Amino acid sequence: MGSAREYFQNIFDTVRTIATGMSITLKYNFAKTITLQYPDMAPALQPRYRGFHWFEAEKCIACDQCAKACPVDCIYIEKGGPRKIDKATGIAVGGALERYAIDYAKCMFCALCCDPCPTDCIHMGDNHDLSAYTREDMCVEFTDLAKEGKQTPEPYWMQKENMPTWAKEKKNRWEERAKPVRDEMLKALKPSTATPAKKEDAAAH
Ligand code: SF4
Ligand code: SF4
Repeated sequence: MGSAREYFQNIFDTVRTIATGMSITLKYNFAKTITLQYPDMAPALQPRYRGFHWFEAEKCIACDQCAKACPVDCIYIEKGGPRKIDKATGIAVGGALERYAIDYAKCMFCALCCDPCPTDCIHMGDNHDLSAYTREDMCVEFTDLAKEGKQTPEPYWMQKENMPTWAKEKKNRWEERAKPVRDEMLKALKPSTATPAKKEDAAAH
C-alpha cells in the first residue's frame, strides 16, 4: 500500500513541477520583451558603469601608482625621464610618456587603478564594447590613441560611417571631450623642455 501511495505521489510531483515550470514559461510568453537589439539600440548603462578606461595622457606623470595598484598587473607604462605637473598649466612636463597601455584580456574593471592616481588622469569610461580579432589587439595602447587625438578605444563597428544615432552621439561626446587637449596629448608623447613643477606642486594635483 505504501509503495502505491509513493507511486501516485511521484506522478503528482512530476505533474506539479512540470506545471510550475510551464507556468513560468507561459508568463514570459506574454511579458514585455526586454531583448535589446544591440547595436541598433543603445544599452542602458548605469551612471557609475565601469567600462573601458579613458585616459588623459597630458596629465599623466608616469608615476606607476595605477600599475602598482592593479591586482592583475595589466597596466604597462614607459617614460623617457621624470615627469611632473606644471602647476601653471596643469599639464605634465619632463620626459616623454613613451607608453601607456592596458591589457583588456586581463583587466577585470575593478577601478583600483583610478583611485591612487595623483593627477586624476585615468578614469573608468562608458565604453562597454571592445571586440578584437587577436589577444594582442586586446592590449590597448593609449599613447597610440593619443596620437590620433583619442582618449578611449572604440569598437571596430564604431569606426564606420553608418552607425546608429546613439553611437554617433557617444562618439561625438568622446571627441568633444578630447578636442581641447589634443595638442597637449601629442606633446605628452615627446620630451618637454618646459620647467617642471616642484615636488609639492605635483603632489597637490
Ligand atoms: S580596472 Fe582593475 S584590473 Fe583593470 S587596469 Fe584598473 S586596476 Fe587593473
Ligand atoms: S597613477 Fe595616474 S599619473 Fe601615475 S602613471 Fe598612472 S595614470 Fe599616470
